[in-house]
Amino acid sequence: MEEVEFKRVHDPCLQSDMTTSTSTDTTPRRVRVREPIIVGAGPSGLAAAACLKNQGVPAMILERANCIASLWQFRTYDRLRLHLPKQFCQLPLMPFPVDFPTYPTKDQFLSYLESYAKNFDLKPVFNTTVVSVEFDGLCGLWRVKTKSIEYLCQWLIVATGENAEEVVPRLEGLNEFNGPIVHTSSYKRGECFHHKSVLVVGCGNSGMEVCLDLCNYNAFPSLVVRDSLHVLPQEMFWMSTFGLSIWLLKWLPIRIVDPFLLFVSRIMIGDTSHLGLNRPKLGPLELKSIYGKTPVLDVGTLAKIRSGDIKVFPKIKKVACHNVEFVDGRIEKFDAIILATGYRSNVPTWLKDTNLFSEKDGYPKKKFPNGWKGDHGLYAVGFTKRGLLGTSIEATKVAEDIAPQWKLI
Ligand SMILES: Cc1cc2nc3c(=O)[nH]c(=O)nc-3n(C[C@H](O)[C@H](O)[C@H](O)COP(=O)(O)OP(=O)(O)OC[C@H]3O[C@@H](n4cnc5c(N)ncnc54)[C@H](O)[C@@H]3O)c2cc1C
Repeated sequence: MEEVEFKRVHDPCLQSDMTTSTSTDTTPRRVRVREPIIVGAGPSGLAAAACLKNQGVPAMILERANCIASLWQFRTYDRLRLHLPKQFCQLPLMPFPVDFPTYPTKDQFLSYLESYAKNFDLKPVFNTTVVSVEFDGLCGLWRVKTKSIEYLCQWLIVATGENAEEVVPRLEGLNEFNGPIVHTSSYKRGECFHHKSVLVVGCGNSGMEVCLDLCNYNAFPSLVVRDSLHVLPQEMFWMSTFGLSIWLLKWLPIRIVDPFLLFVSRIMIGDTSHLGLNRPKLGPLELKSIYGKTPVLDVGTLAKIRSGDIKVFPKIKKVACHNVEFVDGRIEKFDAIILATGYRSNVPTWLKDTNLFSEKDGYPKKKFPNGWKGDHGLYAVGFTKRGLLGTSIEATKVAEDIAPQWKLI
C-alpha cells in the first residue's frame, strides 16, 4: 500500500481541509493515495487488484469486514457449493486446483480465494467501511471517506457486489409472527429446525436449496413461489446446463437455444407447472439476458416437492402470530420463517455520483458488457448479474484501462 501525504501547500483539496480543521473537530484525516482504491475485498475486488498488479499497478483495497470474501465466509449456508462448474467461476490469472471437483464446496472456494490473495500479495485494509464517496471537480480526485480517514485518489473501483445488503420483504403482519424469522444470509444448516414446520419465502437457488437442507434435517419445509420461474436440471447430456448453453449460443440464437433447453428439461424433469412452479413466457436465457433473472438449477429439490416432502404455496397475503395466510385462501401454521428473498447493492447509500450507477437499484445504468466504466476514473466490477464470469471479464478490462494511465503519472 502506497500512501503519499502530499504537501498541503499548492493542493486545493488539502488546503480546504486546513481551513476547516481545528484541533478539536472530528474531521477525518486526509490522505492522498497514488494508487487506485478498490472498495470491497470479495472475489471482484481481489480479481481487480490481481489484474492491476499483473499490469504493474498497485491498489489499495478497503473492506468493511475483517477478512476477504465476507459473503462466502459469514453469510452462506454450510452445504453450499458453487452453482456453476469451476471453469466458469475461476478468477483471472489463476485457475482452480486440478483436484477440485467440478462444483467446489464453499470451503474449497474460500481456500482458493485465500491462495489467490496470497499469490498476488493482496493485503486489504480490513474493518474499514467506506461511508461516502464523491468526485471533487476542483482537484480532479475522488474523496473516499471512511470513519477515520478521507482518502483522495484518481481511480475508484466499486466492488461491493450485488449482495451487499439483505432484502427483507414487506409482508403484512410479519412483525407479529411468533417464531424465528431468519434471512438465508444467517442460515447455516437445518439442525435447529428438526421436526419444525418451516416456511421458506423465495424460490431462487438459495430458497430451493435451503428447503432441501431442511428436509435432510427432518424439518417440514414449505416453499412460497410468488412468481413464475424456470427450473432446469443442473446437467444435460453429461455436461453442465450452463456450459452447454454457452456452447450452443456460439452457434445458435437464443430463440433456438431456449426452446431446446426447455424441451430437454421437460424430458428430464417433467412438467413443473402441476407442482406450482409455472414457467415464464420468456425462455430461461432470454429472461436472464433481459431482466437478469437467473434460472434455478435443480440439485434435488424438485424430487422432494414431487414426493410431498416440500409443500408449495403461492404469494403470502398476511402473516399472523403463528399462521400464514396465502392468496389462494389457505391458512397454515408455521414454527419458523426463512427469508430467501435475496440481496441488493448498497452503492447508492455511499456513492454520490449518478453517472455510472443508478440511484434506484445501485447497478450500473448501462447493461453488460458496457457497465464497467464511468467518468473521471470511476469503475465497476461485479455488477453484471453474471456471477464470477462477469467479474473476471470486468476486472481484466478495468486493469487494461487503468494501466496505461498509471504509466503516464
Ligand atoms: C448463496 C450464493 C451462491 C452463489 N453461487 C455462485 C456461483 O456458484 N457462481 C457464481 O459465479 N456466483 C455465485 N454467487 C454470486 C456471488 O455474488 C459471487 O460469487 C461473488 O461473491 C461476487 O463477488 P463480489 O466481490 O462482487 O461481491 P461480494 O462477494 O459480496 O463482496 C463484496 C465485498 O464488499 C464489501 N463491502 C460492501 N460494502 C462495503 C463498503 N461500503 N465499504 C467497504 N467494503 C464494503 C463486503 O463486505 C464484501 O466483502 C453466489 C451468491 C450467493 C449469495
